[in-house]
Amino acid sequence: MTKQTLSFQAEVQQLLHLVTHSLYSNKEIFLRELISNASDACDKLRFEALNDSALYEDAPNLEVRVSFDKAARTVTITDNGIGMNEAEAIANLGTIAKSGTREFVGKLSGEQSRDTQLIGQFGVGFYSGYIVADRMTVETRRAGAKPEEGVRWSSTGTGDFEVEVITRPERGTSVTLHLREGEDEWLAQWKLKSTIAKYSDHISLPILMHKQEWNTEKSDYETKDEWETVNKAAALWSRAKSEITDAEYKAFYEQIGFDNQPPLAYTHNRVEGRSEYTQLLYVPAHAPHDLWNRDRRGGVKLYVKRVFIMDDAEALMPTYLRFVKGVIDSSDLPLNVSRELLQESRDVKLIREGSTKRVLSMLEELAGSEDPAQREKYAGFWKEFGAVLKEGVGEDQANQERLAKLLRFASTQVDEGVSFADYVSRMKEGQEAIYYITADSLAAARHSPQLEVFRKKGIEVLLLTDRVDEWMLSHLYEFEGKPLQSVAKGAVDLGKLQDESEKQEAEAAAETFKPVLEKLKEALKDRAKDVRVTTRLVDSPACLVVEEGDMSGHLARMLKQAGQSAPPSRPILEVNTAHALVRRLEDSGRFDDLAQVLFDQAVLAEGGQLDDPAAYVRRVNDLLTA
Ligand code: ADP
Ligand code: MG
Repeated sequence: MTKQTLSFQAEVQQLLHLVTHSLYSNKEIFLRELISNASDACDKLRFEALNDSALYEDAPNLEVRVSFDKAARTVTITDNGIGMNEAEAIANLGTIAKSGTREFVGKLSGEQSRDTQLIGQFGVGFYSGYIVADRMTVETRRAGAKPEEGVRWSSTGTGDFEVEVITRPERGTSVTLHLREGEDEWLAQWKLKSTIAKYSDHISLPILMHKQEWNTEKSDYETKDEWETVNKAAALWSRAKSEITDAEYKAFYEQIGFDNQPPLAYTHNRVEGRSEYTQLLYVPAHAPHDLWNRDRRGGVKLYVKRVFIMDDAEALMPTYLRFVKGVIDSSDLPLNVSRELLQESRDVKLIREGSTKRVLSMLEELAGSEDPAQREKYAGFWKEFGAVLKEGVGEDQANQERLAKLLRFASTQVDEGVSFADYVSRMKEGQEAIYYITADSLAAARHSPQLEVFRKKGIEVLLLTDRVDEWMLSHLYEFEGKPLQSVAKGAVDLGKLQDESEKQEAEAAAETFKPVLEKLKEALKDRAKDVRVTTRLVDSPACLVVEEGDMSGHLARMLKQAGQSAPPSRPILEVNTAHALVRRLEDSGRFDDLAQVLFDQAVLAEGGQLDDPAAYVRRVNDLLTA
């Protein structure tokens, strides 16, 4: 059989260039990546062997062996997993099937981000070998194939790789790293061992290394023919809680979460009853770069009786908890469960409900803790993931009340971290509703004219500026019996907060102003649905409001930005009859211009854009020079 020389896919070449030229922090992760590939290969074999036990051949004990050769300056990682045939070796090691490479490259080009941590995150772990090696040789044979159907793949990690058919009696794969100049530290037992302990202790199959013994004569270690297991080789989640240290939980998170920051919180439970499963779930401290992609790979791995089944089993977690990472190990699901089956399974439904509740409890514990440090953590969580959690208010009716309690806002009185409960505890005597305003930014919200009367009366208003807020509020109407009321929608009903004299004054003003209102309505008939006397303004001449049930200006602008057309709707203009500008309307002699300016200013004040800014400027200048 002859050797074949093939070229790497362009993306791989680009990637390899980055790996060898940019990655310098945390070099040691190459070992974690190669061991994790070996472990994946064993999981794949175990999975395929469910239907065909002959695949085990005569070696049913799955394991990984790590060895080194000082003279040849090589490190070798061998597994007896599924192996690869020629076509698979070419496809899997010469191309990158997954998308995300472009993103990876983009990330690496950024200044601080030249971090090897990204390697695993983007599923390009094999190539991390080239951080320490200037040649990699892979010898492999697929389980079930004949010994003569082995493959040797070899490359210096530049443009090409070679493949040739070899004879390989043993099933599985061995990856040999020919170390670069200066990488001799990897030719030491303790170095490899301690790196395995750091990253791969929880791999659920044994990792073996040759035993070494001190030889006094040679004054050096001597490698024995015996192998010893160097990792714990037990799935962490299957061990008793009391036997697992915090450090172990965190190390496991690093390994499965591709995150070098410790998690914010975790929960580990065995659930018994109608459905039996173990869950080990983590809330990360920081949002991943693609949190906003609702289709992103989630972080929960599904195992069935400790056999790995799939990554990102989205059916196990609701979308709004897509930031949660961890493991769910079920005792009830069939091993050959597919994604489609998962969607329909009753067991999965129970697991999802149970896991959702667990995560919410974990968050509630942080949020409601006596310990300020824990509450601080919750504040951190909220900054990173609050807007995602808000999706749950609409998506998860069953937990809506619990989620509402976890929400945090900015308000006119406190910069951040206001819960509904805080708000309610500060409500004024006679105040019946929880007031809020939505806007594009905090500054725009804070300076909204609609807030004036609330400020005057000392009533707190929540300031909502996340994109999901409007949507969330279309699903949430009240908190503990207190209705949620937009200050920019409908008529302001301050209820008992408004005293009789104020009401009478407003009615009287509306009466005397009637002719002016009629003229305004006429002048603005294309722009405003109605013009009326306001009760919400103190200092500003006018503001826009929409009818209860109509789309707010804020939402209409968001839709427009997103390239969607908002249904045409005209707002209501409310005018402040106490304002000099409004009082001057009648005898100004330029009623129409003033009316348009009044309207334009109301648009600008709520952060909107004018359809015809030039006309506005011209009118204002005319008025200024008149
Ligand atoms: P990932 O592991 O995220 O798929 P890698 O770059 O680490 O990405 O590996 C690429 C692919 O090469 C794997 O998906 C697998 O198909 C194949 N592969 C790598 N190492 C092994 C191995 N030890 N045994 C079998 N296949 C392997
Ligand atoms: Mg990998």
